[in-house]
Amino acid sequence: MSATEQQQRQQTPTVVAVDGPAGSGKSSVSKAAARELGYAYLDTGAAYRALSWFVVARKLDPTDSAAVVDALPDFDYRIGTDPDTYHVFVGDHDVTDAIREPEVSAVVSAIARVPEVRTFLTELFRRIMRGTEKPGIVVEGRDITTVVAPDAPVRILLTASEAARIARRSAELVGHSAAHVGEQLHRRDRADSRVVDFMNAADGVTTVDSTDLDFEQTVAAVIDVVQTEIRKGA
Ligand code: C5P
Repeated sequence: MSATEQQQRQQTPTVVAVDGPAGSGKSSVSKAAARELGYAYLDTGAAYRALSWFVVARKLDPTDSAAVVDALPDFDYRIGTDPDTYHVFVGDHDVTDAIREPEVSAVVSAIARVPEVRTFLTELFRRIMRGTEKPGIVVEGRDITTVVAPDAPVRILLTASEAARIARRSAELVGHSAAHVGEQLHRRDRADSRVVDFMNAADGVTTVDSTDLDFEQTVAAVIDVVQTEIRKGA
């Protein structure tokens, strides 16, 4: 490794914080933007989902906060941060696909509202952010711009109208009616927004509204914000 490369590695990675509601496209957009920028990628919703999968697999009651908190020390969670080889593991189980199932989505909000769970996972996210070997990391979720990385040099709120978000989620979940997907999404947003406000941009956060943008245009808009903010900070 050259001296410059070594110096680059020792510098704190540039954090791009992205928040937004369910179905705003933030996971796929953040992953694509990370790939294009040569950054790492962290999907924090995947951790909340993996913990929910773990709680269900252990046959615990997801609304029993004490039981969920007691299970935290046994939660052996690994997530890749390379946007090209994204996998989520709990112990030896590859749960990359299982955590997207509606059964997990239905219980995740109850688990995510437990303060001890949020503290535990926030610490985990900060450790992963610090440990990245890439020059930057795109971190996406609900409270990244406000709680996990409020000092990030780039903070974005990715929004879209409810109709656009339901249409996107329905296209992803083949075999589920749009009405059912819409109802689930609405219920999850309502529950989640009682815990953190991800519908309104906090001070200093740039809103990207993807309602009338296609996927490539949304990625381009996000990268544009990243480059503008980095130029401003330089
Ligand atoms: O982003 P995604 O829809 O996969 O997130 C799943 C759930 O995880 C959300 O509905 C929310 O309850 C929780 N979550 C959270 N804070 C984050 C990311 C996700 O509470 N930063």
